[in-house]
This record gives sequence, C-alpha cells and structure tokens, in this order.
Amino acid sequence: MSDCIFCKIANGEIPSDFVYEDENIAAFRDVNPQAPAHILVIPKKHYASAAEVTDASVWSSLMSSAVKIARKLGLEENGYRMVINTGEQGGQTVPHLHLHMLAGRNLGWPPG
Ligand code: AMP
Repeated sequence: MSDCIFCKIANGEIPSDFVYEDENIAAFRDVNPQAPAHILVIPKKHYASAAEVTDASVWSSLMSSAVKIARKLGLEENGYRMVINTGEQGGQTVPHLHLHMLAGRNLGWPPG
C-alpha cells in the first residue's frame, strides 16, 4: 500500500527505531510511547486490521516474533502486555495490522 505509514516503515522509506526484523515481520519503537517499553510488531504484508487476516500463519509469525522480542529486550521477568486495537471503537488509528507490546510499569485493567 503506497500511502500506508507502516508499509513505508517496513520497507525503509520512513526511518524508525527497529528492534527486530525478519522476512515477514518488522518491530519498532512507538513514537508516542505509553509505557517505558512500547514496541509495535507488524506483518510486512499489508492487512488493514486483524479482521482482514485469513491466513493463520500471519498470527503464528506475529505472536512468535512478539514473544521472541520480549525475551530479547528482557521484558519477561516483570511481564508485558500485548494489545491489538481493531477498528474504530477498538481504538485503532493506523490501518495496518500491528501488535502493541507494553512493558516497564504496572498496567491498569480494565483498559480505558
Ligand atoms: P493504534 O492506535 O492501535 O492504531 O496504534 C497506532 C500507533 O502507532 C500509536 O501508538 C502511534 O503512536 C504509533 N505511530 C504512529 N506513527 C508512527 C511512526 N511513524 N513510528 C512509530 N509509531 C508510530
């Protein structure tokens, strides 16, 4: 998608603070962090939201990469939260599937 900001980050057109990358997945720091560690994990292929995914291998690579990144960044010991905002009421603002990883403070529940 030529006008998608996360596609542009994934293909290097827009610089970002990458923490992980492989053939299918990119992960980078959120520009507006909501916790001391706030990473966005995305499939490089464009899906507008979680609701568009029909291929289970997308979930497999996204989730397994997120767990790997948490380990690599040392987030396991104190814990972390993974969130996928989906659609308007779900709070999604960027229409490219992304998983938020939040860590480094006590996270409230229920979320706002
Ligand atoms: P959501 O509201 O769930 O769609 O999350 C979108 C996230 O993308 C927000 O937390 C933004 O701060 C973040 N974001 C937007 N633009 C960028 C960017 N260029 N680099 C990193 N994070 C971004």
